[in-house]
Amino acid sequence: MPRCTFCKQNYEFPYGLSLILNDGNIMYFCSSKCRKNALNLKRDNKKVNWIRKADAGEAEALHAHTIKEPKKEAEKIEKKEEGHKKTEEKKEEKK
Ligand SMILES: [Zn+2]
Repeated sequence: MPRCTFCKQNYEFPYGLSLILNDGNIMYFCSSKCRKNALNLKRDNKKVNWIRKADAGEAEALHAHTIKEPKKEAEKIEKKEEGHKKTEEKKEEKK
């Protein structure tokens, strides 16, 4: 599960774009919005308002997790369960 280099959000693999630079670094972009902001518009991801909002929400969610369950393993299990739910939903849609 790659993490977008611009908005710092995780996204599922088949989506987005991975840009491998000549110096070996890999840039992940979850959407064309992030890609254009980073490469074409050359914006600083710390100065873009829609990323700040997303970061704040993620930080609050992580903070809530640490209060309830301090172990990182619990978070990993939850993420796996979320993935299963998504696949199950897709299967139901096909039927
Ligand atoms: Zn992004």
